[in-house]
Amino acid sequence: MRFIDHLIVGGAGGNPARKASVFNPSTGQVQAEVALGDAALLDRAVQAALAAQPAWAATNPQRRARVMFEFKRLVEANMQDLAELLATEHGKVTADAKGDIQRGLEVIEFACGIPHALKGEFTNGAGPGIDVYSMRQPVGIGAGITPFNFPAMIPMWMFGVAIACGNAFILKPSERDPSVPVRLVELMLEAGAPEGILQCVHGDKEMVDAILDHPAIGAISFVGSSDIANYVYQRGAANGKRVQAMGGAKNHGIIMPDADIDRAVNDLVGAAFGSAGERCMALPVVVPVGEGTAEKLIDKLIPEITALNVGTSLDPSAHYGPVVTAEHKARVEDWIGTCEAEGGKILIDGRGFTPQGLEGGFYVGPTLIDHVTPDMDSYHNEIFGPVLQIVRAPDFETALSLPSKHQYGNGVAIFTRNGHAAREFAARVNVGMVGINVPIPVPVAYHTFGGWKRSAFGDTNQHGMEGVKFWTKVKTITARWPDSTPEGGNAFIIPTMG
Ligand code: NAD
Repeated sequence: MRFIDHLIVGGAGGNPARKASVFNPSTGQVQAEVALGDAALLDRAVQAALAAQPAWAATNPQRRARVMFEFKRLVEANMQDLAELLATEHGKVTADAKGDIQRGLEVIEFACGIPHALKGEFTNGAGPGIDVYSMRQPVGIGAGITPFNFPAMIPMWMFGVAIACGNAFILKPSERDPSVPVRLVELMLEAGAPEGILQCVHGDKEMVDAILDHPAIGAISFVGSSDIANYVYQRGAANGKRVQAMGGAKNHGIIMPDADIDRAVNDLVGAAFGSAGERCMALPVVVPVGEGTAEKLIDKLIPEITALNVGTSLDPSAHYGPVVTAEHKARVEDWIGTCEAEGGKILIDGRGFTPQGLEGGFYVGPTLIDHVTPDMDSYHNEIFGPVLQIVRAPDFETALSLPSKHQYGNGVAIFTRNGHAAREFAARVNVGMVGINVPIPVPVAYHTFGGWKRSAFGDTNQHGMEGVKFWTKVKTITARWPDSTPEGGNAFIIPTMG
């Protein structure tokens, strides 16, 4: 059985009895085991990071950026292997796995421009002989705790920016699909990241708690489900750390009566069922607005959804593959049952679905449910599976209030030909990322990613300049170089520039 070990300076070691199974969700077989670390192992990684970080911070940013350029080249050269490895552990199809890697690489491209991003501010002559300038210095040791659903992109969101800023970084990927994160760390070392600057530890709650409590870790970035995100935020912040913690989502797609329905249906099917719905920017709720819109939409949705091909993650003809674990399959099917019991009308039922010959795999067929209402538990909660719920809205204001009042506020999309409606919606909706005729509005790497409400705890987003701010501390220097030292004056009053 393949064993996936920690990748830390000095070799892993650790307690061999603590390990977890890694499945191939397409077949249901265990294909590897992953080590689960503890506080002692983490401390070894932190000591190595502490030893390496000052020299890395003192390396000029252009040289740090060169490591990022080389890393990008290496990831691109290994794209096919990485995508297949990712697909066989996560369950998403290979083309989608390439998208996962590519979106992470775009943050690496942003990190290649770090000399520009770190330039700071300068005011010449803020007072007589006085200049004021700021510099951004690395936090020191950063840690990233990542979810199973983007095992390439999300680690790169974090370590790409953190390391380019001059930090050392310890990655704790999801124990369900840890192989690609380990490969990414290996490729960073091959690209020239010095020993100790990027390390990978594996584990469950025990390791996460060790990270939250380690006094030498200055900043923690977390992405995962909301209850755990909130816990990570509270405990990390109580320990005096900088914490950003992204949580769950329930994104709505608003279909206005004037929308291009054919295009919206095409977008919706990809956004609701791609990656088996296991994306925090999926669209699991569609809101047709006004009389007759729901009927028009459903007429077109049903044939498109019925034609979806669900297969193994390596089947090039499959639109999507299995969900990540047997427990998650059971949970998604339970939510479909709950929604039905709450009064939802099931138009397409994906429960009990198994592609021929793949009886052990964790498959859920595409599911479409009409007449879902905001009082239902199955609407209120994240299902994170290939399930599309239809919530009918009589008018624009009702449609606007649905995502605005929902506990999650990650993403939302409106489909319309009316620029004014789109503009109003974008300005007023209580959600962090908005798409206008764009179903999955994941911002490009040089902008920033982050939701509102229970979709994010802490106040700094991922990547873009927000990421640079998160991984650095600002220092502001006020310098006086006078012609001659002025006589007298009262040194005990606050200096003014006048
Ligand atoms: P998860 O919360 O189960 O796990 C995330 C991380 O937390 C993993 O590294 C895991 O090992 C660790 N963890 C698990 N249980 C823990 C515990 N009790 N205490 C401390 N740490 C623990 O999430 P997941 O199932 O891997 O990922 C799916 C979730 O992530 C969904 O809710 C999805 O919406 C969310 N997500 C959010 C974003 C975003 O940017 N908002 C992006 C991707 C995924």
